[in-house]
This record gives sequence, structure tokens and C-alpha cells, in this order.
Amino acid sequence: MKKYGFLGLGIMGQAMAANLLKADFTVTVWNRTASKCESLINKGASHRETPAEVVASSDITFAMVSDPVAARKICFGKQGVLEGITMGKGYIDVSTIDPQTSIEISQAISNNGGRFLEAPVSGSKKPAEDGALVFLCAGDKSLYQEAIPALEIMGKKSFYFGDAGFGARMKLVINMIMGTMMTALCEGLSLGKKAGLNMSDILDVLDQGVIANQMFRLKGPMMVEGNFPTAFPLKHMQKDMRLALLMGDDNGQALYTAGAANFSYIKARNKGFDDGDFSAVLQAIKE
Ligand code: NAP
Repeated sequence: MKKYGFLGLGIMGQAMAANLLKADFTVTVWNRTASKCESLINKGASHRETPAEVVASSDITFAMVSDPVAARKICFGKQGVLEGITMGKGYIDVSTIDPQTSIEISQAISNNGGRFLEAPVSGSKKPAEDGALVFLCAGDKSLYQEAIPALEIMGKKSFYFGDAGFGARMKLVINMIMGTMMTALCEGLSLGKKAGLNMSDILDVLDQGVIANQMFRLKGPMMVEGNFPTAFPLKHMQKDMRLALLMGDDNGQALYTAGAANFSYIKARNKGFDDGDFSAVLQAIKE
């Protein structure tokens, strides 16, 4: 039976690793803040002190960390993933990072005899808990095929887009659209309220038309109540907007709407909403 590793046990990693354990997979975990490993250890996970040790004791290791800086740190850093990679081992980074970082990690893993897959996810805390994520995979095809049983436990659908970099690009395009949809909703709610409309009425009208969508339906009522339970941290949404804008630069694509949305997320970060849900951007927009 295959042995799995899991590095990074934040909102998403915690839920994803728990689902692997629930399905009776053998899982070894590591997190920078070790206390976050406890609930998974109680559910049957093993624990190692470093990413290198997790990789050395696993056939396939998943990583779910914040951003490109963290992804590089756990891969290239001291006692990092690279030190544990040997011939044939699989490393799957499911974090949302830029294509360039992902390609560099991919090359380093394969230079050490390992196999790399990027598999950023679409879906948030609840889909992660429900095993209903969507994986946007690219990289080593044999690893993709081998990982399918685990991907099917954690997700409802997997796509494979070819060489490393294309999964990261897809994820940034999707999140850039989502991030701009959110700020458009916030500006509409805020304008409506200042013009004397009821925000709940705005949501009801939106929900009957062609732009009705699950995100407005899920987040809208909580936003109207001023309730922003963190599912997708605002700091990560702003990171995705920033990475998408850089991708725009690299590809000669002007991104006016996303650029404006990014300013709203930066403003919200400056106001202290880093760890709030990304829907808390409403607080910055309405001021
Ligand atoms: P999170 O709760 O903030 O967790 C971040 C994880 O990264 C934690 O385990 C953290 O360790 C680790 N980390 C951060 N910096 C590190 C470093 N320098 N070295 C080692 N580990 C480091 O974030 P999340 O919501 O789980 O998101 C994780 C990734 O998934 C992000 O790329 C995010 O954009 C993406 N994503 C999130 C969602 C969502 O709805 N939440 C949906 C899709 C994709 P500590 O515990 O020690 O801080």
C-alpha cells in the first residue's frame, strides 16, 4: 500500500489530509507550526520533524502552503523536500503559486530523480472538508495517474493540462476572475446601500438573473450581516491577484479590472483584514 506525506496543515491542508486518513490511507504529516499536526496525529497520522523526513518516508508527498516563498522554502530550504527525494518518489504541490516557481521546483525534483506534479485546487474550506475540490494538474503524467486514488478522495474532479506551469496558470486565471467578481459585488452592495437600497434585496435580484452564482449565494448573505468567517484568507486572495497581474505582464495582457480589484485587496490588507475572509474586502470598499 502506498505511503503518503502531507506538508502544510493550514485551512486547506488540514482538511485534505484528514480526508486521506478517513479513507484509511497511510499519511505522515509536517507543519512549520508543529501544534497543527496534533489533530491529525489523533486521527492516525504519523509525524516527522522535517519535510525531508516526510518525503523520505513516503511514496507521494503533497504540499499545501501559502505562497511562492513558502513553496520554495519547504522545497529548497535546509532539511527541505529536495533532501528527501530519491529515484521515483512523487512530489505534488497543491499550493497556489506562480508558474515560474512551479517550473523551478519541477526541474529540481526531476534533477534529483523524483517526479513532480503541480495540482492547485479550485474550491475552498468546505469543499476541502467535503472532498469536493477540483485539481488543476500539470507535470509528470505517470505521477498524475498514480495519484488519482488520492485526488479522488480529496476532490470531485481532476484536470490534466500538460507540462508543469499550465496548472498554475489556470489557477491564477480562475482566481483572478473570482477576485474581480468579489470586488464588483462589494462595490454594487456598497453603492446600493449608500443610494438607499437594501443590500439583501440586491442579492435577491442578482440571484434571479443570468449572473446568479454560487459565490454570491454563499458569501452574499454573510457579507450583508457583516459576518466574514475565514474560508479563503484575504491575504492569499491578494497574493493571487498579484501573481495574476505579473502573469499579465509576462504575456502582454493589460488587466485593468483585476488591477483595480487588487488595489481594493491591498487597501483591506492595510486595514488589518489579512486573516479575514476575502469577502471582508467589503469593509475596505464601503469606507
Ligand atoms: P493557511 O491556512 O494560511 O495555511 C498556510 C500554510 O502554509 C500553513 O501550514 C503555514 O504554516 C504554511 N506556511 C506559510 N509560510 C510558510 C513557510 N515560510 N514555511 C513553511 N510553511 C509555511 O492557508 P490555506 O487557506 O490553507 O491556503 C494554502 C494554499 O492554498 C494557498 O496557496 C492558498 O492560496 C491556496 N488555496 C486556498 C483556498 C482557501 O479557500 N483557503 C482555496 C484554494 C487554494 P504555519 O501553520 O506554520 O503558519
